[in-house]
Amino acid sequence: MLWEDDDVSKEVLSIIIPMYNEEESLPYLYDRLVRLGDKIENYTLEFLFVNDGSSDNSLTMVKELREIDARVCYLSLSRNFGKEVAMGAAFDYVNGDAVVIIDADLQDPPELILEMLKYYEEGYDDVYAKRKSREGETWLKKMTSKTFYRVLHTVSRVPIQQDTGDFRLLSRRAIEALKSFPEKQRYTKGMFSLIGFKKIAIEFDRDPRVAGSTKWNYFKLMELAVEGITSFTLAPLRISTYIGIITSLCAMVYATFIFIKTVIYGIDVPGYASLMCVVLFLGGVQLLCLGVIGEYLGRIFIEAKARPLYFIDEYSGTSVDIE
Ligand code: UDP
Ligand code: MG
Repeated sequence: MLWEDDDVSKEVLSIIIPMYNEEESLPYLYDRLVRLGDKIENYTLEFLFVNDGSSDNSLTMVKELREIDARVCYLSLSRNFGKEVAMGAAFDYVNGDAVVIIDADLQDPPELILEMLKYYEEGYDDVYAKRKSREGETWLKKMTSKTFYRVLHTVSRVPIQQDTGDFRLLSRRAIEALKSFPEKQRYTKGMFSLIGFKKIAIEFDRDPRVAGSTKWNYFKLMELAVEGITSFTLAPLRISTYIGIITSLCAMVYATFIFIKTVIYGIDVPGYASLMCVVLFLGGVQLLCLGVIGEYLGRIFIEAKARPLYFIDEYSGTSVDIE
């Protein structure tokens, strides 16, 4: 039949949804995805829900959705691995010619995908959504996030897009490139930049979460920040070297000063305060530099163990025809 031939020639658009305890947002999300699906006629859709070890009903709900909608697929990880790993797993299983990553909490409006597709059809490999505003997030979070990206941008040679999350459309070749990264400690935002290819930004207003609560806390964000910096640049190591050089130079100048002073005026016993300052300061600097080296060493240790990135508990299989 004619329409069947038509179907085969259609490209596949996959939407990856990492979810961790998102039972409250899921109905809203599915509703919006269905409405979006009605507007997309030229693509075969695949909604790949990645269950990142949710302890609530998220997976059951997705399974129910799959029974009524064949476009819904799911990949369930054996425990909570974090969003970065969940995305990594999804890249391995996704079938789309074009792939969109979207949060389950509707902070990224699915309607934007229509606009992303336009650019994809023009030949862009990475259409990323840049936040014009972030509603429902505290002033402190916006401020710290902005400062972090500034710092990262300054210290790493790879341009990292500012005010950009993981909400983006990637072409098949971009996905293949991302799959080839073997690292276990992933900082996906940086990887998007590293792969290169044709990129374009589209701007949007980030909505507040539709339901449920954020899975991030300041401790986790801090970890992600350290991850971002140490997996992307050797700048902290270099900075330690510079601090070392500068303190040595200062020490030499001071030593010369003391030597001359002693030769001219003889030895005077006081000097406890200055001695203490120098010892404490140097001790501090040394510990700091050791910490920095330790951070990188730890990373090498983890990578050297080469443990598997994730384990799959269940995969629904896709409903999309793959040759
Ligand atoms: N998420 C996940 N694993 C986690 C934490 C979060 O898959 O360990 C998912 C979460 O369900 C959501 C997305 O990642 O779809 C973004 O998380 P969240 O909304 O908590 O982050 P925020 O938007 O506050 O940065
Ligand atoms: Mg969110």
